[in-house]
Amino acid sequence: MRFSIARASGFTGLAVVLLMLTVAAWGKNFTPDIRPGEGVTEQRKLSDYFAPLKGTNLDTDVFILDSGQPGATGLLLGGTHGNELAGSVAALVMVENSVVRQGKLIVIPYANRSAISMRDTRNGIKRQHAIQSRSGKRFLPYGDRRTDPADQGQADPDDYENPAGYVLKNGAESRNLNRTYPGDPEGTRTEQVTYAIIALIKEEQVDISLDMHEADTPERKVQTDGDYRPGGNRRLAYTLVSHPRGIEIAAFALLALEEDIEVSMKLEESNTKYRGLSHLEIGNATDCLSFLSESPNPGQDRWRSDGDVVNDPKYPLTHRVGLHLRLFKNLADAYADYHGEALIIEGLPEYQDLLAGSIGRFLN
Ligand SMILES: [Zn+2]
Repeated sequence: MRFSIARASGFTGLAVVLLMLTVAAWGKNFTPDIRPGEGVTEQRKLSDYFAPLKGTNLDTDVFILDSGQPGATGLLLGGTHGNELAGSVAALVMVENSVVRQGKLIVIPYANRSAISMRDTRNGIKRQHAIQSRSGKRFLPYGDRRTDPADQGQADPDDYENPAGYVLKNGAESRNLNRTYPGDPEGTRTEQVTYAIIALIKEEQVDISLDMHEADTPERKVQTDGDYRPGGNRRLAYTLVSHPRGIEIAAFALLALEEDIEVSMKLEESNTKYRGLSHLEIGNATDCLSFLSESPNPGQDRWRSDGDVVNDPKYPLTHRVGLHLRLFKNLADAYADYHGEALIIEGLPEYQDLLAGSIGRFLN
């Protein structure tokens, strides 16, 4: 009798501990769930490239997939904005499936770990999205666009002058990772993250980088009762932005992408007057050819608050993840054609295979 009571209370205690762990995992000190596959040869932290980030909520996982064979080095960045799910999930699919046969690949699934640790303040998209992975139920986190003010450690300025010397009228943009390149070791926490990414690119001698983003979809809300609310961002979704030095490679990659997945993307060259963005500043500060991609995310449409960020019938996550991954592959191939240094990745899902079912089939 005593034994069974002890067992029962033991189970209750275990249940309480598990519940607390679950709450902690989705609370302030959120740790993203990443399950590396056999292709990952080394796991590092961003603070390995800039030590002051160590122990902060902005330190993030860096995965290295090194073939040991000479070739090109690529960097894949997801989660620059925490409310842009497809970039992070594309990075997860890469880390959990691919093996590099030539050259080296570096993947950061959650570039702004602070932003993914808080709730989406713009459209109120729910915090976690259940999927069925190879090993069972798993949750994909959805976060906010910018660094948590608590992690930034200082109030937003009225006007923000970023490290590239560009003044932004919206001071909250000082917490936008894609406005703070090339970063500043003495600057804000967000500026320190971009400084660390630039340090990584220099130390690892990265040849090409792709910063994966999402924008609102090309859809518009239909007019009802005279209440016409235009939506739809026809400028950003399905765009590849290229540093001026990478424009030929970008053009070739987009032609090959169209053949590969039958989706066309627009090509845009970095606007050299609009400073602080990854595609311009990485290429200016280093030898790396830097690119930025945009897929269409229903969760970012301002005219709807209930966008399905995983299973939308027209813009499912599988389509958006496939777009980024196949684009990166085609950029690497175009780089090899131009510069003779290859980055060969195996185990990357074909676009049609991604579309044939749910995203969880490609996650551990
Ligand atoms: Zn973005």
